[in-house]
Amino acid sequence: MRFAYFLHLFVYVKSTELQFCETGQSEECGNDKGPNSRWSKEWSEYKSLIKNAAETYVECGHTSSGCSYCYDETIKKDLSPFADGISKETLDSAKTISRITKYQIIDGQLFRSKNCMFPFRCSGIEHFLLELVKDLPNTEFYLNTRDWPMAGRHFGSAVPVFSFSKTKDYWDVMFPAWTFWEGGPALGIYPNGLGRWDEYRKTLSSAAADNPWSRKESKVFFRGSRTSAERDPLVLISRKNGKLVDAKYTKNQAWKSSKDTLGEEPAEEVKLEEHCRFKYLFNYRGVAASFRFKHLFLCRSLVFHVGDEWLEFFYPSLVPWFHYIPVPSTADQQMIQSIINFAIHHDGIMREISENGANFIENHLTLNDISCYWKTLLLEYTKLLSFPISRDQTLIRIH
Ligand code: UDP
Repeated sequence: MRFAYFLHLFVYVKSTELQFCETGQSEECGNDKGPNSRWSKEWSEYKSLIKNAAETYVECGHTSSGCSYCYDETIKKDLSPFADGISKETLDSAKTISRITKYQIIDGQLFRSKNCMFPFRCSGIEHFLLELVKDLPNTEFYLNTRDWPMAGRHFGSAVPVFSFSKTKDYWDVMFPAWTFWEGGPALGIYPNGLGRWDEYRKTLSSAAADNPWSRKESKVFFRGSRTSAERDPLVLISRKNGKLVDAKYTKNQAWKSSKDTLGEEPAEEVKLEEHCRFKYLFNYRGVAASFRFKHLFLCRSLVFHVGDEWLEFFYPSLVPWFHYIPVPSTADQQMIQSIINFAIHHDGIMREISENGANFIENHLTLNDISCYWKTLLLEYTKLLSFPISRDQTLIRIH
């Protein structure tokens, strides 16, 4: 819906050539004041979307134990297909998913299927579960450690399975990804995985302090592998206009030849803290949602978020045009160019949005908020179970 509206804005871009406006070029590129200016119509629409988002935004509060209220609606929405209760039979429908992981909490102890498809991912999840286990009632649930969700809405009735990311076409109930603690992707620059979120928050805050808005380079930056072709238009723009866009493909484990990096050799990987040198950072989906999204905000740079289909649990609480600039997943080079031009010519507004985004992640996505999310999710989920929990002897105890 949001993006349908957004798309309509782009019909006003008439030129078929790619052209970038740089600061000081407003004569040539048009400005947002003259009625005949090339960009005036869409720029004023963007500004009205930004104004409206700022006027209607309501900041979430915190409970006395410091838990953000921002995510209550997401939990409610994800559990709503199960509002009439989860019978043993319904829960068992998740059991048939291949390589699914079963967890039980019994009398303050945590139990799990003997094998986990991705042991480091299970470890990352169990860090939070073990912290909470004494405060939770007996319960059991099935959790999917793959990147993509498992329970398509078009394939039958609701299946209660936990996944880290999904689109609205899935029943899966979102949980905070393992990578907040452990099990994130391993790259050349992160041989042990992406690293703990609490530590990365500090690293990025310090990189943001070293690179305040006034000292950031006025350039779009992206580094990542070609996990989705939605990234191609930005990379192609970069190949034509490296002065304003630096977007390059890196290798991932599936890389075989330059075909996998859109016909060029892979670029060097760049650490997330080094992204903070640039004013404009792009986020894209990968196989599912990409872990980079939360990091980009902490640079206090302006985040362009492409596509609204793939979610992690915290995405619905971020407001387009207030915390980030949304870009449709179908955006071609022309559309992307148009929105970049707008950003370049509205530095003060972009700075404010970058501050809004960073403040949200700083205040509402702490490690404590991850624990809070798990706790609320499991308490609300367990209320729906309509059968007594009995210990599954095939599971092993996790300490
Ligand atoms: N990444 C990074 N620097 C790079 C390439 C990737 O920090 O040069 C990070 C990126 O931010 C993401 C993870 O590594 O969190 C995996 O990125 P990739 O693009 O390979 O896959 P994605 O998970 O985004 O689909």
